[in-house]
Amino acid sequence: MSSYVTFNPATGRTQREFDSLTDSDVDAVLSRSARAFVSWRALDPTARASALRRTAEIYEERSDELAQAITTEMGKPLAESEGEVRLAASIYRWYADHGPDLLADEPLDPQGAQESIVQTVPVGPLVGVMPWNFPYYQVARFVAPNLMAGNTIILKHAGICAASSALMAEILHDAGVPEDAYINVYASSDQVADMIADPRVHGVSLTGSEKAGASVAETAARNLTKAVLELGGSDPFIVLSTDDVASVAQTAATARLSNTGQACNSPKRFIVLDKYYDDFLTEVVKAFEAVTIGDPADSDTDLGPLSSVDARDTVVDQVRTAVDQGATLHIGGSPLDGDGAFMRPAVLTEITPEMDAYSEEIFGPVAMIYRAESVDDAVRLANDVSFGLSGSVWGSDLQTAQAVADRLEVGMAYVNEHGTTLPGLPFGGVKRSGFGRELGRWGMGEFVNTKLRRTS
Ligand code: NAP
Repeated sequence: MSSYVTFNPATGRTQREFDSLTDSDVDAVLSRSARAFVSWRALDPTARASALRRTAEIYEERSDELAQAITTEMGKPLAESEGEVRLAASIYRWYADHGPDLLADEPLDPQGAQESIVQTVPVGPLVGVMPWNFPYYQVARFVAPNLMAGNTIILKHAGICAASSALMAEILHDAGVPEDAYINVYASSDQVADMIADPRVHGVSLTGSEKAGASVAETAARNLTKAVLELGGSDPFIVLSTDDVASVAQTAATARLSNTGQACNSPKRFIVLDKYYDDFLTEVVKAFEAVTIGDPADSDTDLGPLSSVDARDTVVDQVRTAVDQGATLHIGGSPLDGDGAFMRPAVLTEITPEMDAYSEEIFGPVAMIYRAESVDDAVRLANDVSFGLSGSVWGSDLQTAQAVADRLEVGMAYVNEHGTTLPGLPFGGVKRSGFGRELGRWGMGEFVNTKLRRTS
């Protein structure tokens, strides 16, 4: 099977086939990107900002079509797809609004010279490798700041979202980004490695699994090419104190099931102080029971299919293994009959460090709930995994909650909310969740030359 055949995960039916890049096309793509860089970087930043602003407008104008495309190819419930389109548009607009200022020369104390300034200069063609779980948002996080900075982009999206990746390229081009400044390729992993190894490429950004990240980072390191990696997570959601445990549990359940549980920064481990544990567990099970599973295009659906039958079977296997190893399953965990990639959302407890589920990421609708004996115990559990993407702390005593947030080994710590993503906030992790940052001014700092010019 070619990796660029798309399926509707709600029905299992083939949607479309796309021509993969041939090996002989790789060199031409690199040359086109390198040539386009010369003229794209030379534009005034306000001209590049105009193209991004127009991109945001087209996303909004074509919102229904864009939302429908990802719902069909990766199974996201339609209302969530519409939300993702709006988020992507807001990212393009944010960089259009702030980009020219972020790129302005920064004067330093001349210290004996006539002038000392720091310039922010693009580095050249970049390769982006993106996942299917938020097809538009992941691409916007990488593409908006880098096109704004004056870099050019070769984008290899996940095979699952070949149709939406074509739409994204079409929109950027319609908005005024030259054809060769943004090139969408249906490339294999080997072709991606060849591109990263090529001296015309000056950086690579991958959002995806640890395995893909390690492979791309290895090629990048061998060729002294800068890499940004946004990888997996097993985020903690820590409940310290509340006078409304039902409401916190409902928030927890909704966050866990958003995007059918397939978000890197979804809360995957719920760490609840002893006093609240039983009620929290009861309420999450109740919330999972009440979920409507079905066609993601139907407005009554809460939970769509996973992205593929393989992805669903992996999650079902993870739940089964946890139970075989001694965990308690309170609800769900089984596949639904039929051709779609559906499963019943699951709640697991009594997970111990010897079990696989304790340390691995479960990329689907599964909540793992832990009982913490004390605040210190909660922090210990939260940090006792190899991931470090984000985490949240829930408590009516803000000082204590913030102190716990400060002890989390993560890139993003939230108090009384989980996973808020806005264009101006930094996004990224530590430990095996990757390195580098996207969004905000930090996202614009990864693939630029921070260049000193001093004149005596
Ligand atoms: P994946 O298998 O790693 O795929 C991600 C992308 O990498 C796809 O375009 C894939 O192409 C490509 N790829 C896979 N192996 C590669 C290799 N050896 N060389 C070059 N490219 C390669 O990840 P996934 O299963 O689709 O996504 C789920 C993972 O992504 C989860 O772990 C999730 O937590 C993580 N994620 C992280 C973030 C974040 O911001 N930190 C955001 C979203 C997702 P093909 O599709 O053609 O195989």
